[in-house]
Amino acid sequence: MSKKPLIDLVDITKSFDDTCVLDDLNLSIKENEFLTLLGPSGCGKTTTLRILGGFVTPDKGNVIFDGEDITQVPPNKRNLNTVFQKYALFPHMNIEENIAFGLKISHKSKAYIKDKIKYALKLVNLQGYEKRMPSYLSGGQQQRIAIARAIVNEPKVLLLDEPLGALDLKLRQDMQYELIRLKNELGITFVYVTHDQEEALTMSDTVVVMNQGYIQQMGTPEDIYNEPENAFVADFIGDSNIIDGLMVRDELVEILGVKFACVDKGFGNYKPVDVVIRPEDIILGNPGEGSMDGVVSHLIFKGVHYEMEVMANGFEWLVQSTVAHAVGTPVSLRVDPFNIQIMNKPESEDEKAVTPDE
Ligand code: ATP
Repeated sequence: MSKKPLIDLVDITKSFDDTCVLDDLNLSIKENEFLTLLGPSGCGKTTTLRILGGFVTPDKGNVIFDGEDITQVPPNKRNLNTVFQKYALFPHMNIEENIAFGLKISHKSKAYIKDKIKYALKLVNLQGYEKRMPSYLSGGQQQRIAIARAIVNEPKVLLLDEPLGALDLKLRQDMQYELIRLKNELGITFVYVTHDQEEALTMSDTVVVMNQGYIQQMGTPEDIYNEPENAFVADFIGDSNIIDGLMVRDELVEILGVKFACVDKGFGNYKPVDVVIRPEDIILGNPGEGSMDGVVSHLIFKGVHYEMEVMANGFEWLVQSTVAHAVGTPVSLRVDPFNIQIMNKPESEDEKAVTPDE
């Protein structure tokens, strides 16, 4: 993958009715990258995408595309295309006419348009659908046509705002693979908006986790999942046990009154921290074999694994295992030091170190 930045959002600030939605946002998007903006509803993902597309003008800051400042350039003059959640096909036009719409406006020849329609329908696996009306297509097929319509304009960038949000799970998963294939075949840059963390992890080269108008973390799906930088990211990406901890010293953290070996250093002594442990990293054993004893309080079969809740030291631990332990079974909990993640608490809660009471 090329490392060249294609788009830079520089110091972008945007408010609606005195409410700041994006505050000094900086983001660099590389050529051929599949970049996903991920975050809870209202965090500013769509606003960021709309600023990229030119549908919203920032109050402050610049959008740089291929070295050129396009902050004031209207959407139709930008070398990018947007696909929205609602496929927005023209209902009175057949598929061929829908796909051809943008090309006709830019006065392309009939032969060129015919070729492009054929090519685009092949790309989205809908050859032979030229004469159908949109209402005779399923939701997934309509969304594929919307993507085909965007692709024929040969944009450098495709902006996708929750394009699979209206589809059922199976169709959504099929489409995820199809989008990855398209991205690889076309070599264009995808900027994708979703609040679905699994979708973001599946498809992206880079995930940008946002909350309340700020970027919380940006990295590969593996980085975001394995090395979340704060409790918000850990909580939003996958299931986590997030517990108050006390960093006793380097490589030793106290959780719920029990000391656990960890690998983190440099937090200081007796420093309150957030501790994050993934459910799949907790190893259950017989009572007395681990660091903490507890009792299984819930058991759910999830297909590939079992999910259990274990009440131990006053905390309900979420645990994933391929082995089921019935509700009421006494168990011990153990965690490999490498799988205990220590994070600074958000600044407001992080005022002072506490003194040990031992
Ligand atoms: P969702 O996943 O629900 O679409 P989002 O992360 O995409 O959320 P945005 O659509 O960017 O969030 O909205 C961020 C905030 O800005 C929200 O509080 C929203 O109500 C507000 N907002 C967005 N567009 C406008 C607008 N045109 N006028 C007023 N407020 C707006």
